Amino acid sequence: MGKQYKSDGVLVYIEIDHDEVAEVSLELICKARELADQLGVDVQAVIVGKSNLSQFAEQIFSYGCDVLHVIEDERLKFYETLPYTFIVSEVIKQTAPQIVLFGATPVGRDLAPRIASKLKTGLTADCTDLKIGDHENKKLKKTYKNILYQIRPAFGGNIIATIITPEHRPQMATVREGVIKLTPPQKNRAGVILPFNISLDGVDFVNTYLERTVSEKKINLKAADIIVSGGGGVGSKENFQLIHDLAETLGGLVGASRAAVDSGYIGREHQVGQTGTTVRPKLYIACGISGAIQHRAGMDQSGKIIAINTDPNAPIFQIAHYGIVGDLREIIPMMIKAYKTKV
Ligand SMILES: Cc1cc2nc3c(=O)[nH]c(=O)nc-3n(C[C@H](O)[C@H](O)[C@H](O)COP(=O)(O)OP(=O)(O)OC[C@H]3O[C@@H](n4cnc5c(N)ncnc54)[C@H](O)[C@@H]3O)c2cc1C
Repeated sequence: MGKQYKSDGVLVYIEIDHDEVAEVSLELICKARELADQLGVDVQAVIVGKSNLSQFAEQIFSYGCDVLHVIEDERLKFYETLPYTFIVSEVIKQTAPQIVLFGATPVGRDLAPRIASKLKTGLTADCTDLKIGDHENKKLKKTYKNILYQIRPAFGGNIIATIITPEHRPQMATVREGVIKLTPPQKNRAGVILPFNISLDGVDFVNTYLERTVSEKKINLKAADIIVSGGGGVGSKENFQLIHDLAETLGGLVGASRAAVDSGYIGREHQVGQTGTTVRPKLYIACGISGAIQHRAGMDQSGKIIAINTDPNAPIFQIAHYGIVGDLREIIPMMIKAYKTKV
């Protein structure tokens, strides 16, 4: 297999979710484009699966990818750790990218560490931002130019750490879903599809699938324009109905803080924040949510934030555009009534 493309680029692992390109993969392409432009290199992507993967190429190119490596085989129908690790590692060895990015999804979190270990390089998990910059190691009197800053919360979200991989290549990171804003796609943007010829003889296909059940995606908070979230201050599962009522009245979706989820008021898929979903709705209404840094990390980019809290000193008011000091059990019914009489 001769090298047919430029090395030293930024490579993105493309994940397929419910027969579509996972949104996080498109977010990564957007970020990879930004990084690659700064470095003056190509954006490449790798997609692995059973067949017909080229159908996704146009969409992947439209977000800024230049080269798509396609690996198709009947046996690659579903994600499996060992074969996928082997394949993506081979792609990395042959394309020699300086940066490789994965979504911080269950698949990305399984695959990326395996590959990093196989290639004997570093990996930063759950990044919330990536930048290019220089690093000076005063002790070694050495300056590393244009390396990847892998940025993520650390120590329970109380500090933001910038992590680097100065000596080893590629520099690898998994990136949280929703933290990178999609740039508008460019229709008909050109790219090159490269079938990647690789022998799977001897690859360990250890699993036999007897049956596969895929659960429906329950809620897509990332796509919502309006989110009404309830926190620990809601007080009970019964009171949480108020959050549902307000969301329904406004045509929005229901979010929650971790305290509300841990208290059993609502399911974990509704959690917003550092260990939940990162959202960017036009309107976010935080009801009985204190505004802990781990919650704010997932919603502070919202267009407009309204906070309802009995405590005038609650940190949520520091980022709210409109603050209502009061008991949500009184305020929410008034809001619903006011909205219904206006429209
Ligand atoms: C590693 C790590 C990851 C985490 N990830 C997340 C995450 O992803 N998302 C997340 O949300 N948290 C996360 N947390 C937890 C976070 O630190 C907070 O504990 C949590 O956000 C608190 O939720 P809360 O503000 O809803 O509840 P509380 O801290 O209990 O605050 C309740 C608020 O409601 C107000 N209130 C009380 N009664 C009323 C009323 N009747 N009307 C109006 N207001 C009222 C109170 O004044 C208070 O401000 C994480 C923590 C760690 C360490």
